[in-house]
Amino acid sequence: MGIAYDVIIIGGGPAGLSAGLYASRTMLRTLLIEKGIFGGQITNAALVENYPGFPDGISGLELGELMHQQAIKYGLETVTAEVRGIELGERGKTIKTTEGEYTAKAVILAGGATFKRLGVPGEERLSGKGVSYCATCDGPLFKERVVAVIGGGDSAVEEGLLLTRFASEVILIHRRAQLRASRLFQERAFANKKMAFLWDTVVDEILGDDRVSGLSVRHVKTGKTSTLEISAVFIYVGQRPNTDYLRGRIPLDEEGRIPTNERMETEIKGIFAAGDIRKNSSQQAITAAGEGATAALSAEKFLAKQ
Ligand code: NAP
Repeated sequence: MGIAYDVIIIGGGPAGLSAGLYASRTMLRTLLIEKGIFGGQITNAALVENYPGFPDGISGLELGELMHQQAIKYGLETVTAEVRGIELGERGKTIKTTEGEYTAKAVILAGGATFKRLGVPGEERLSGKGVSYCATCDGPLFKERVVAVIGGGDSAVEEGLLLTRFASEVILIHRRAQLRASRLFQERAFANKKMAFLWDTVVDEILGDDRVSGLSVRHVKTGKTSTLEISAVFIYVGQRPNTDYLRGRIPLDEEGRIPTNERMETEIKGIFAAGDIRKNSSQQAITAAGEGATAALSAEKFLAKQ
């Protein structure tokens, strides 16, 4: 059995790092477990324009690292590990990870969400070979090429716009004739000469032998199929919460998200949730950070009563 902590935070995105900052500043012995880079999903964003305090925007990687530095300055401990399970015992909660077990009196679940797979033939086989979920990481590989983006939400449009910096043309393929993305992103996309749109269209298959070479697409209203020649496809069809290891342990909604009250308390005493993992989350970096702070304050009150 590892060291016992007051609070363990799972996830090092804006929610987890903000919870870590607040918990450490109240002198709670706090451990944050993160499997990848600090900052979570914002590290995929080349420029975060809607986080207050940065009028010219800031790179997601830099924002994540600044949040990390600020939290560890006040004593937050961190470990790089993947969480495999959680045990709710009489004397505490045990978190099982790839690097061993850790126990705490309170746990803040802030593991965020991951981009969904499209679920079509060719997607898995050509992943990393032209199929991508990260325009910032892979966009520069496709200079002066034609690439496709699937989806009509903020992620698809924002990442599509980013890709216009590299690609000769970005074809956004959406299953409806209207984007879900915010007005600002829509206006920018329609004004960008490198952006093209395929409406009412779905992808049936991603084509290519050892690299993506095209897409087999279908118009949903006419049923007409055609082949589109492209060098890469970036998939942004929504996100799923990272809660697989919590199934059967804590209540989840039908999408796998965690219901909480406004104090970020789950139905289980001493377990809190914040950020994109939470039911009804606004899925914004700033709201995740706010929820992380609220969760830490609630955890502090819970521990004070113990
Ligand atoms: P989203 O809003 O859930 O959008 C997913 C898009 O994919 C929708 O347009 C949806 O179509 C489409 N889609 C879903 N399943 C599909 C399928 N099987 N085949 C084809 N298309 C499919 O996801 P998101 O864009 O990742 O955004 C998630 C949250 O993060 C949102 O709250 C968003 O505002 C936020 N976000 C904010 C920013 C920002 O502020 N800078 C950036 C990125 C994301 P329908 O429209 O027909 O449902």
